[in-house]
Amino acid sequence: KKISSSKLYPPCKIFIDIYIADIKGMVMDYFEKKLSYVKENGLYRGDFKYLNTEQAPKVVIENRDIILLGSNNYLGLCNDSRLKEAAMEATAKYGVGSGGARLTTGSYELHKKLEEKIARFKCVESSLIYTTGYMANTGIISAICDRKWTIFCDKNNHASIVDGALLSGARIIRYKHCNMGDLERKVHTNKGDNNLIITDGVFSMDGDVAPLTDIVGIAKKYGCLTMVDDAHGFGVLGENGSGTVSHFNLNGQIDIQMGTLSKAVASVGGYAAGKKGIIDYLKNFSRSFIFSTALPPSTIAVSLKSIEIIENDNDRRQHLKELSDWFRTELKESGFTVSGELTPIIPVITGGADETVELCNNLYAEGIYVPAIRPPTVPRGTSRLRISLMATHTREDLQYVVAMIKKHGKKVHR
Ligand code: PMP
Repeated sequence: KKISSSKLYPPCKIFIDIYIADIKGMVMDYFEKKLSYVKENGLYRGDFKYLNTEQAPKVVIENRDIILLGSNNYLGLCNDSRLKEAAMEATAKYGVGSGGARLTTGSYELHKKLEEKIARFKCVESSLIYTTGYMANTGIISAICDRKWTIFCDKNNHASIVDGALLSGARIIRYKHCNMGDLERKVHTNKGDNNLIITDGVFSMDGDVAPLTDIVGIAKKYGCLTMVDDAHGFGVLGENGSGTVSHFNLNGQIDIQMGTLSKAVASVGGYAAGKKGIIDYLKNFSRSFIFSTALPPSTIAVSLKSIEIIENDNDRRQHLKELSDWFRTELKESGFTVSGELTPIIPVITGGADETVELCNNLYAEGIYVPAIRPPTVPRGTSRLRISLMATHTREDLQYVVAMIKKHGKKVHR
């Protein structure tokens, strides 16, 4: 029987209050200890940089002109006038909020149009839009897998894949980054009916591309399902920018393609794309799709227009590729350890967290903002400047960046 605390004998009540206060104190101590640890180890994250302009190669932060490196706005479309117009037209017609979840009142004809467009672009039967890429990964994986499944996951896969896998309750086996020998060994020793291999198409912190042809080969040999997260390949790789799967000529051979509309597409949202049966299943069982409000029509209109631009503007993509190749070579020839290939993500590996933060602060003082990536996002000892380029960066600005990295980067691990 429950006893209301107001009815307790007063000394008992005081004792319970002290006990609760003690537990609260212990919890706060625990939070403070964890915060002290990250502060002492150069891992504290509280120092946001607040932009006061559009996302572009040059921005204003704290009233200073700053060159922005590290943005996911790879094609430079975030401030494209055609996309702004699309957003304004849709806002004028449909208003601002979507008003409901997709299965209730939040589905607009624009959502259907975008899902059809993504399916065509990805050469699959059907697609489904989620509110973010993070929600797509957690929603897709936890709907498809349960405790009977084994998920083979690249060690450097994005956190949202790991979280989706944890949420599903499946057994998770992580294989060494892009190491096909390790993957095959692990799949071979854990052969079974319910196996899924998941990989990023382009790795967001490494800038390299997953060996998808080999992954598909292993999946076929052992009867595994395959899923690719192409957040960073969409718009950048493949025929007309349709992504990493197309880059490897593997259209039709990946079971689930997932991606986001928040990077090269310059909008917001995530998607799943694949066979109609899988997409229908997700509509019915994917909780982050079912229980969250639909994206507003204006962002959907932006994504539609943006994909149209991406499909028809190979010059922009080619220019980004040339700029990235040149910039990567400049840094390598200056003696820095640079990771990745083929993509506009050009991380400079700097080693320790403290040196990396110091380097970023020095660059910021010179008018360059590049995020410092530290553990737990990347393994200890491999902190880095996560440089990424936009098609709209100028060579002149990038030459200045190289000179400043050379000037201040002498201390970092090479
Ligand atoms: N997957 C990868 C590989 C990502 O890099 C990200 C975002 N950084 C996501 C998924 C999540 O996408 P979103 O930002 O749209 O939630």
